[in-house]
Amino acid sequence: MAAHVAPEVSPSRLADVEGFTVRRALPQRTRRTVGAWCFVDHLGPVVTPPGPAMAIGPHPHIGLHTVTWLFDGEVEHRDGLGSEQLIRPGQLNLMTAGRGIAHAEEARPGWQGTAHGAQIWVAQPEATRHAEPAFEHHAELPTVGAGPAVVTVLVGAFADVTSPARRDTPLVGLDVVLRPGRAELALDEVFEHAIVVVEGEVTVDGTAVVPGELAYLAPGRSELLLAAEADARLLLLGGAPFGEEVLMWWNFVARTRDEVDAAIDDWQEEHARFGQVASRLGRIPAPRPHWSAHDRSG
Ligand code: MN
Repeated sequence: MAAHVAPEVSPSRLADVEGFTVRRALPQRTRRTVGAWCFVDHLGPVVTPPGPAMAIGPHPHIGLHTVTWLFDGEVEHRDGLGSEQLIRPGQLNLMTAGRGIAHAEEARPGWQGTAHGAQIWVAQPEATRHAEPAFEHHAELPTVGAGPAVVTVLVGAFADVTSPARRDTPLVGLDVVLRPGRAELALDEVFEHAIVVVEGEVTVDGTAVVPGELAYLAPGRSELLLAAEADARLLLLGGAPFGEEVLMWWNFVARTRDEVDAAIDDWQEEHARFGQVASRLGRIPAPRPHWSAHDRSG
């Protein structure tokens, strides 16, 4: 086996999402994207009650796919295209924003249980980011055994198995449930990869990684050795390095401040580009960016 550069491990930062504390693994100051993956939030586990129920009111997106993947619990998705979809563990919601969409994510009234999941964004390339929005729900995804690991293919391909989910750039997204032992996974050498551990402790080519950390692997690897002494679970996200410089602000993935300013104005004015979301929750107002002439906070 060829010698590899050790994984670069960096801490996630804690962020608040409508009352939930999440571990935000991407973006990082020195690393904005891994492939086209540009945002990774790991939420929970939070037991409800006494923890809060998820209630994220209608809010807009542009220029990205949202990938919703649950380890426990359930969430109801509603969007401006009229989609209404309950998602449970093992299922994938993939929403494409393109030129604009709005959605809400909320627990059903009275729901009790454990909320544990990931909300991940993929930057759309220039070729598709101005196109129509779309929504996909995949009730079942392919899985592959790899020694003591069970790999679910969320996006892209692994071991000759391909996810039905849309992708606009060369990309892979895997959920890996690891029993005690060692598993060797084949990687695409062209891709860079990130590992986000969501449960337990995993050693990645000998380097320990725990929840609240991101391990980055540079391109040029054809395999990866994962090991765990107890049950563990992780997300492996990879892709060809994204050749476009993105400007991410709030829920928008854009290229310029003018695009972000236009999206903010359109959202505040209830422009038709985002559609109408049938949610009992209130719309989340867009905050003003630091560059805006309307910013009165300073
Ligand atoms: Mn969202």
